[in-house]
Amino acid sequence: MKKRIIVLGSTGSIGRSTLDAIENQRDEFDVVGIACKGNTRLFTEQIRRFKPRFACLYEGRLEARVDFGTARRLIGPPGLKELLESDAEMIVNALPGSVGLEPTLEALRQHRILALANKESLVMAGRLIARLRRHGGRLIPVDSEHSALYQLMDGVGDHEIEKLIITASGGPFRDYSREALRNVTAEQALRHPTWQMGTKVTIDSATLMNKGLEVIEARWLFEVDHERIDVVVHPESVLHGMLQLVDGSLFAYMAYPDMKIPIAFALNEGKRRKVPFGRVNLAELGHLTFRAADTVRFPALKLAYLALDAGDSALIALNASNEVASTAFLEGRIGFTDIPGLVEETVGRHPNVKEVDDLETIWEIHGWAKAYLESHLRRIDA
Ligand code: MG
Repeated sequence: MKKRIIVLGSTGSIGRSTLDAIENQRDEFDVVGIACKGNTRLFTEQIRRFKPRFACLYEGRLEARVDFGTARRLIGPPGLKELLESDAEMIVNALPGSVGLEPTLEALRQHRILALANKESLVMAGRLIARLRRHGGRLIPVDSEHSALYQLMDGVGDHEIEKLIITASGGPFRDYSREALRNVTAEQALRHPTWQMGTKVTIDSATLMNKGLEVIEARWLFEVDHERIDVVVHPESVLHGMLQLVDGSLFAYMAYPDMKIPIAFALNEGKRRKVPFGRVNLAELGHLTFRAADTVRFPALKLAYLALDAGDSALIALNASNEVASTAFLEGRIGFTDIPGLVEETVGRHPNVKEVDDLETIWEIHGWAKAYLESHLRRIDA
């Protein structure tokens, strides 16, 4: 029996890697459905290649540009909803940003196996997701650092663990001075040294907000206090996560920096399979380097920890304002170093609620933070 699978965000970087990993085990997977936002050319190609029963295009106005073939034509948010109601056993959620939240919750409620690459789901609704998992929802992380921790924690008792440590590449500007950071352009920010990724996560990597979101992701994924989660900068991106144990030993997970490796691990439900996606050769590398993250030049990481101190609503406001601020940077409306300041401003103004675990309140705070920062930006523009 083939495993029936849905890939959300199929034309993005994780989505494409997922389909490549599936191709490598072609006789074990049946791609039931795929969904993308608006890359119609690649989407048409994927429909031809994988012949899914369902194909969902989020941007309905581009419908005429897609050849759906024999796939059922699904459009927009209602289409996405219908896709999630199909009989797939596994859902890969590789949607970027807050749009990924509802599919995450739906997959967990329906007890599908969720391979989760959308970290914003856990940032916005970590408490709710933790509850759904305690009630039988199955989640396997796809993010490389979290896949590393997930693998390292297998067989290690919670009382043995002192700290979870995730690595950060440091992004394209890791050696820039504060002054130089002020003048970087969107084009420079989109050139990441190690990973080829989507626009949102690439800007987040440059500000280090991506690492902040990942600390929050780890907090909810592994249900540990954030004081037990550390970040270390490691430019080579070969070592992805570590466990600092109570006896002073350090367990580390290394893998070639190719997202297809953690994706294949998730697709196979945590079982390791032989894959042809690259090997780490330490003798060839010669050395690996590490340094502390600089939160003076990159305050976004500190903001994530402060939001974790403050409570759930601060996490929602952090995520929403970061979406608005990084888009404003891409549009050339604000400078690179304005991003964390605007996030801090928004989080500081929002009405603080310690615990939020209902969807309505989550969207309410999300909407408030977006609207607040957008009107703040219009005042700056004027
Ligand atoms: Mg990551």
